[in-house]
Amino acid sequence: MVFATDGHLRRLPKVELHCHLEGSTRATTIRDLALKNGVELPVDDPEELYQFTNLNQFLDIYTIICRSLVSADDYRRITYEALEDAAAAGVRYREMFFSPGFTIQFGVPVSRIWEGIRAGLLEARQDLSIQARMILDFDKPSGPAHAVEMAEFAGSEPDRDLLIGMGADSVERGIDHAAFAPAYEVAGRYGLRRTMHAGEDGPADNIRIAIDDCGCERIDHGFRLLDDRDLTARVVERRIPVTVCPTSNVVIANVVPDVANHPFGAMRAAGVLAGLNSDDPGMMRFDLADEYPTVAEAFGYTLEQMEQISLDGIESSWAPDDEKQAMRASFAVEFDALRTEYGLPLRA
Ligand SMILES: [Zn+2]
Repeated sequence: MVFATDGHLRRLPKVELHCHLEGSTRATTIRDLALKNGVELPVDDPEELYQFTNLNQFLDIYTIICRSLVSADDYRRITYEALEDAAAAGVRYREMFFSPGFTIQFGVPVSRIWEGIRAGLLEARQDLSIQARMILDFDKPSGPAHAVEMAEFAGSEPDRDLLIGMGADSVERGIDHAAFAPAYEVAGRYGLRRTMHAGEDGPADNIRIAIDDCGCERIDHGFRLLDDRDLTARVVERRIPVTVCPTSNVVIANVVPDVANHPFGAMRAAGVLAGLNSDDPGMMRFDLADEYPTVAEAFGYTLEQMEQISLDGIESSWAPDDEKQAMRASFAVEFDALRTEYGLPLRA
């Protein structure tokens, strides 16, 4: 058995499939944009902007971020910077959510939001050593009609290589998840891939609804999955990926006291295709490079196990098959190069 140092794990090449654009913003950038757009910040020092201990405080800050994003160029900037930060954390491939539900309430049309994100994405593809695609998340509390509107918008973007899927986020309590089935049907008709935040602060039944009623091919969080044995067996058998965010569940959702008590370890042991993700790395000031050693320590994982988690991210992604193959090959080369550098035996 081979164990790796924190430094080694931080440098593993990674895939990230559950990460929100707005939550990936730099505090200093939000300070700049708030100033430009006449939004008052509750603190003078941007270092203090992202301080929260629960979901409500988190959502207050999230609202300030969304208010500060007004022009297409604001979105271009945060998209580019988010990918720059991801690349620095060893992320080679990311599927990133953007959530227009909040911002359109402040009068910014979704077409302008997308125009900026699209520009940032294309710029990042030119400059950075990371490949990225976007998923439009609708806001569940905004209701089924908003969801259909967002599905129609996402479907209207002709380049399926840039905007590849639709998801749903925000709170689960008091929300009828089956009511979103028509929106997912629209998304499916446009060839969009489908995922949903489910079973985070709500029951495992929301995961079942996401899969059975809404046709979701992937589940975000899925914290409560193991509560339902039959559902777990189906998720394992169909290799439905679950994009888990252990540290986020500790510090934002507060559904578990620490990472060691997170069901991620039990999910992996049960054979679930569960991956590691940061959720909101900017706001949490904790990215995927931080998450890997944290999880390895919490569950006593070997280097092999951590490398497998990284490779499972490739399988869980919606990248084209040839891209997946190329990623597997390049990750294998990087894994061995790192092992050599850290004086460890090469992979079997
Ligand atoms: Zn999320």
